[in-house]
Formats: sequence, C-alpha cells, structure tokens
Amino acid sequence: MAEPILKVALDAPVMQAFDYLPPTAPVSLRPGQRVSVPFRSGERVGVILELAEDSKIPRDRLRRIRVCLDPEPLLDAKLMALLDWAATYYQHPPGEVYAAALPRLLRRGRGEAAHQHAWRTTAAGIAALGEGSLARAPAQARILTELIGKPWGMPMEELRRFGAATAKTIRALATKGLIEKVRATSPPLTGQPAPRPGPILNDAQRAAVEQITGSSGYGVFLLEGVTGSGKTEVYLQCVAAELSRGRQALLLVPEIGLTPQLLERIRARFPTVGLAVMHSSLSDGQRLDAWQRARRGEARIVVGTRSAVFTPLADPGIIIVDEEHDASFKQHEGFRYSARDIAVWRAHQLDITAVLGSATPSFETLFNSMSGRYRKLALPERTGAAGHPSVHLIDLRRHTPTDGLSAPLLAAIGRHLGEGGQVLLYLNRRGFAPTLFCPGCGGTIDCKRCDARLVLHRDRNRLVCHHCGAERSVPAECPECKGTLYPLGQGTERLENALQMHFPDAPAERLDRDTTRRRGELEERLARVASGRARILLGTQMLTKGHDFPAVTLVAVIDADQGLFGTDFRAAERLAQSFVQVAGRAGRGDRAGEVFVQTLFPEHPLLRLLVQGGYEQFAREALLERKAAAWPPYSHLALLRAEASRAEIAQDFLEAARRQAEGLDLSDITLLGPAPAAMERRAGRFRAQLLLQSPKRPALQRFLAGWRPLLAELREARTARWSLDVDPLEAD
Ligand code: ADP
Ligand code: ZN
Repeated sequence: MAEPILKVALDAPVMQAFDYLPPTAPVSLRPGQRVSVPFRSGERVGVILELAEDSKIPRDRLRRIRVCLDPEPLLDAKLMALLDWAATYYQHPPGEVYAAALPRLLRRGRGEAAHQHAWRTTAAGIAALGEGSLARAPAQARILTELIGKPWGMPMEELRRFGAATAKTIRALATKGLIEKVRATSPPLTGQPAPRPGPILNDAQRAAVEQITGSSGYGVFLLEGVTGSGKTEVYLQCVAAELSRGRQALLLVPEIGLTPQLLERIRARFPTVGLAVMHSSLSDGQRLDAWQRARRGEARIVVGTRSAVFTPLADPGIIIVDEEHDASFKQHEGFRYSARDIAVWRAHQLDITAVLGSATPSFETLFNSMSGRYRKLALPERTGAAGHPSVHLIDLRRHTPTDGLSAPLLAAIGRHLGEGGQVLLYLNRRGFAPTLFCPGCGGTIDCKRCDARLVLHRDRNRLVCHHCGAERSVPAECPECKGTLYPLGQGTERLENALQMHFPDAPAERLDRDTTRRRGELEERLARVASGRARILLGTQMLTKGHDFPAVTLVAVIDADQGLFGTDFRAAERLAQSFVQVAGRAGRGDRAGEVFVQTLFPEHPLLRLLVQGGYEQFAREALLERKAAAWPPYSHLALLRAEASRAEIAQDFLEAARRQAEGLDLSDITLLGPAPAAMERRAGRFRAQLLLQSPKRPALQRFLAGWRPLLAELREARTARWSLDVDPLEAD
C-alpha cells in the first residue's frame, strides 16, 4: 500500500493545504496533530488536516514531514470542522485561519506552557489574619484575605489584578513566612462547584434564566435589556446551571468590556471554579496556559475577547456573547471574521445554547428575532430604584453654543452639580478642534497623505492626522495667505477647557484615547469617578461601553448630528446604539436621570423616533429603509477592497476582477462599482472597492468560491493590495 499523503495547513497566504509525505520515523498520524515540515528553504509548524491517497504533485517531488509534534491530536474534529467552515465562508487561506486559532507558542512548535508559580497562605498566614496582627499593614491583610480559601494559590498576575498587590507587599509577606511559593495548579475539580448565591432575580430575569437553562440542544436567545437591567446577572445564573451539569461556559465580551470589575464579579460568584481569561494583552505563556486549561476542561469558565471564540472546550455547554452589537467582534484585517456569527455557528455545531445580549442589538440580530430564528427575552426594567431617564432635545439653531455648550445645557449642568449629581458629556471626537481654518482664504490644514484634515491637539501643541497618525507642528499663520488661523469645531480637549472655565470647582475627568494611553491610566480615572472626586466626566465612545457610573444624573450628547448624516448604510444604527448606550449611563443609582441632546436638526424623523419611541421602534423604522435599499439583513454583502500607490492601479485590479465575475454565473448577484472608497486616499495609498450584493447567502457563497481563486491569478493582483471581506460591517 502506498504511503498516505498528508494535507497540512501552514500559515501562508495560499488557499489550499500543502501536501507532504509521512516522516521517515514511523509514527501514528492523525488530523489535528501539529507537524514540523520543510517549507521553502526553512521549516514551519502546521496542522494535519487530513490523510489523502493522492496529490496533484507527483510523489517524487513531495517532501517529507520532518517530525510530528503531538502524540495525540491537539485539535478535535469539531474544532477543525469549525475552522474549515470559517476558512470557506470567509474565503480565507486555511493555514491563516488555523494560525488565528492557535496560541503563538503552539504555532512555534512549543507544547505545554512553562509552569507558573503561585502564592498561597501558610498556616502562620492564616493565624496572623485571625489574630488581626496585620492591622497596620492593610495591603498585606487584603492579599492574605484574597488567598485564604484558595488552597491552590494564585499566580502573581492574578494577585495584581484582584488585590492590587505589588511585588514589595508580596516579598514582605513571604519574608514573614505568611505566604509561600508553590507550583501553580488549577483548582481541584470537586464534583459540584458551588457558586455563591447572587441577588434574588426579578421576574424578567427569572423568566430569562428559566427559558435559557430549560432549553436543550441548539437554540439562540437574544437577551435584550437596557444597561443596568441585570443581563450580566442572567449570564452568571446560566453559567452556574451549565457548571452544575458538568459543562463549560464560554463568555465572549467586547475588547473594552473585559474589565477587572467583570472578572471580579465572576471570581466572587464562582470562587472554586477554574477560570481562563483570554485577551490580547496576555503574555504568550499565559495565553497558552489558558488555552490548554480550557482544552483539558480544567477551566470551566472561559472569558475572552474576539479570538476566544476558537478556544477548544472539553465539555462545551453554553456560549454567551455580551454586547453582541459591538464592532470589536469583527476582525477588520487579515482573517475578517465575525466572532458573534461564528459563536452562533459553533453553538449549532455543538448542539448547545447561544445567548446574545445587548441593550442595542445589531439589526441583523433583531431581524433574526423578529423572524423567529432567535428567541427574544426582554429585561425591560432596571434593577434598583431608578426609572428611565427623561430625554430633552436642545435646538442649537435657537441656542447658539460657545465651545460646544449651549445656554440650556450649561444651566442643566449647573443644576445637577448643585444637587450633588455627577455629569457625563459625550463627544465622539478627541483633540482640541477637528479643523484649523483660515477665514482669509477659506483654507484648512490637511494631511499630506490622507483626504482628511489635521486635528489640533493643544495639549501637545501638534496637528495630528487621526487616520494615518502623521503629525506636524502648528503653523503660526496660514501657509497660503499668511492670515490668522482659527480652531473650528469641538474636540474633547476643548470641551474640557470650557467646562473648567464655567465650573471651576467641579473637577473634570476626560476619557479618550489621549488621556488613557498609559497602562492603568483608564483605571485611575475611573476610580476618581467612582469615588466621587470627579464631578464631571467627558469623553468619546469609550464612555459608552460597559462602565457603571451610579452617581451620574445628567448625560449630555454634545453633537448628535455627527452620526445623523453618515454615508454608510450602518450610520443610523451606530448613532442609535451609541446614543442609547450613553443615555443608559444616567441615573443608574437610585436617582432618575436626565439626558440632553444638542442638535441642529431637532425635527429629524429618526432622531425624534429614537428619543420618543426608543431603540426598538427606531430599529423597526430604520429596518424598513434597509429593506427598501436592499441592505443587510435583507441582503448579504461581500466587499472586494483594493489599494495602491496610484488610483489607476487599484481601479484596474477591480475592473479586471469585475470582468472575471461577469464570466461566471451571476444569478442573484449584483455587482456595484468599482468606486473610490469614501476616503479615497489614506496614508498615501489610493483605495477603491467593488461591492457584491445578493438576496441569498448560499448564492453569494457559491459565487465567491468560484471567483476567489481567479482573483489571485489576475496580473493586476501583483501590483494592487487587495482583500475580500465577507459580511463587511461597513460598505463605503
Ligand atoms: P447589565 O449587565 O444589564 O448592565 P448587571 O447584571 O450588571 O446589568 O446589573 C446591574 C446592577 O444591578 C449590578 O450591580 C448587579 O449586581 C445588580 N443586580 C442585577 N440583578 C439584580 C437583582 N435581581 N437584584 C438586585 N440587584 C441586581
Ligand atoms: Zn493622514
């Protein structure tokens, strides 16, 4: 019998797997094992996809696998089927898809993580805490308290996160013999992990938990509830139910949603349950450790951002996607997948439950719940005493603002501060002013490499491009006519200055990418808000995500018009989401809140609908517009993007791609373009796109499968950089 041919996925931009012969040393070879293979002049690690009988390449030209790295398959058949599906669906090279799913150390050929150390209390430590002899060292006492009840100890990183431990405090405790260093192991798998009791659920929460935990097999639930309505509490109860059935829970959160508060809450509820956390700032060793613990079933709860959707699970029971509408679930470069959509597919594959939670569900998810594919569970009320905030529009044509603040808004801020409330202002634009303008000649200072204006940052006294990062000094006068330049429009920096002038006794805290660059800075600022020391809170998009500000009684949207006239089909959806999310920060404690919205277009129908009818009604109306224009969810899109150093190169590639498409079966497919991108020039490159639209997903999939290989072979593909985005979030 002839030797088998092994199809190996290698991290390379090629649509197929690579063929190899078995290694010379006899080993058992199975799909899911990693192998090290000769590749070009070097060596690479790949994953065996399948054993085949033949190859398009003659046997005598095939090379041999050098060595098999795993005695047993590292990836199980289900996970491999998931990755194969994702590669096909997103038209992406399988090797790169596998690479996205594997921790870096495994891609480099390493096996187990180097074992980590943990700290645990000694008998003397327990005694010291009992005797209260650490009363004068509260930091040390806090760490001991944290460690008691964790007989397996806690690794240093975790202590840092939960107990604010410093290396110095740890050393002090160790020197006194109150704690000791041990090899980190996972919590023992006791039969029934006993969660600590949570709050008594309200009726809506109880109904939701009963529906979710009572369903068996595949099912998708939309858990729709305003911020503060207790969604997280529902997740925790559903997780507890799965754990008690001996199964694991996977919780996906947006990039910014993975806050210490959330982890703390999970820890506090499930103190004896193995937890793995997967996010982008883990070290390679930590990531591998978390991945292996999930795979072996030692971690019963896995919490992570986007790529955690590929975590191997020994006994999967439920997949939860929190804030499912969040754009960070979509990867915007390379392998452009949607972790939310993959989560649903995976739940179907595993025949388990998926829960998609949001106060502002994506229109796709709403559509699926309206059509009955997803079951909707609503949490209409907030927990606690606070009711819904009242919303007021401020007509900026009647109340001309100075530095972005109108007189009625200033009065409201003064009133709320006077009554002891905190005030939150949302302006989704950082810097001092978005434009430096010359009234003399009407000129502006633009980026040399992008079709965009440079933004004035007065803190640093620089002009900055928010698209390519280019910077320059602030010119003293207009380079064209030597006139005086004026900063036009508001950014958060300017707003902060104005607020300090109007309310000098109310300390303000600004949250945007400029003020939270340093590690830990965001946490420090949030702590000053939580302690009540900061009275005014202002910032960008960052404010709308996840954080709980119970003392905020007034929320102001400084410029609602930013999103009202966006060119993208999703602009209205995004506007409504950030609007509802930011308004939801008001009055989460026991006082009802007020929301003020400044706009030049108070009679705009969508804005009125949003203010008066809320998100659902708004969405129903906006969905009618989507339907009329045949945008998603009423159609399915794929976007072929191209960029090059000259506009013609990108255009030529897309035109050649279009000609190829026209040679294929185009039934149910509409081609739109090629056309320049909304911002044609970015970082010195010219960008254009060709949009594909279809009412039927399978038709689009079938077409893409035939078209994608032809694109790679186009002569024009050698000079233009191109990518194919299936289900793009934006289409302009
Ligand atoms: P969401 O995830 O929808 O923002 P959370 O689950 O975080 O809501 O709940 C908001 C706050 O209310 C949290 O402090 C939570 O502990 C508390 N909470 C949630 N459910 C209840 C309940 N049934 N009874 C009392 N407090 C609750
Ligand atoms: Zn630029």
